[in-house]
Amino acid sequence: MTEKSFCSDPEALAQVKENYLRISENICNAIVKSGRNDEVRLMAVTKTVPYEKVNYAAELGINLLGENRVQEFLGKYEYYSKKCEIHFIGGLQNNKVKYIIDKVSMIHSVDSKKLADEISRRAVAVGRVMDILIEVNIGKEETKGGILPEEVSEISDYCRELSGVNLRGFMTIPPPDTNGSSRRYFEQMKQIYDDCRLKYGKGIDTLSMGMSDDYEQAVMSGSNLVRIGSALFGSRK
Ligand SMILES: *Cc1c(COP(=O)(O)O)cnc(C)c1O
Repeated sequence: MTEKSFCSDPEALAQVKENYLRISENICNAIVKSGRNDEVRLMAVTKTVPYEKVNYAAELGINLLGENRVQEFLGKYEYYSKKCEIHFIGGLQNNKVKYIIDKVSMIHSVDSKKLADEISRRAVAVGRVMDILIEVNIGKEETKGGILPEEVSEISDYCRELSGVNLRGFMTIPPPDTNGSSRRYFEQMKQIYDDCRLKYGKGIDTLSMGMSDDYEQAVMSGSNLVRIGSALFGSRK
């Protein structure tokens, strides 16, 4: 689908709207069911999605975008609605940090001390402090990036010492769900988050977990930021 054809395709727009309303309602229901009284942010994950479609989501009320790919992001960035806050959520190589350091307000995918160092260094160079989340490999999968649960405490301490970053919490992608396994991983993640809040206080305020297939589970377990791509924009080709 080209960008032009999307804009002149009322059905595609109507579908995004319908998806947005359904997801918002599902999140509300999960909040109520779990007896929480705090808020959950809905992030629109934009990979492969034309910027017009992203901006339509912003018109509907979404104010947070998630970016995975540096090149794709740089190509779309200047066309995005200025209403939106932008977070980087994808795997990030050290040599790419410089391209995004002045364009995003949070990086969810910090998975090494070296990357934290580079973000801090680049942030200081442009006179800012970058909010970060540590990505946790909660299922200890060999194929996945992220910090192992037993290493979280040490790397959190490390990040807290860096002058150019501000640790706000954690992000995770659990292993593919088998018989409700995601719920257990989300709850482990919530425990890590709560432990960290006890240790460092309320500056730790973001637990980023839950995607199209499991966001209700994640909210039930205490996520306060869900990252939704395909359930909102349709499946990626
Ligand atoms: C693609 C992606 C998402 C969204 O995935 P969907 O299943 O399409 O909702 C969320 N988080 C990260 C890190 C992603 O790469």
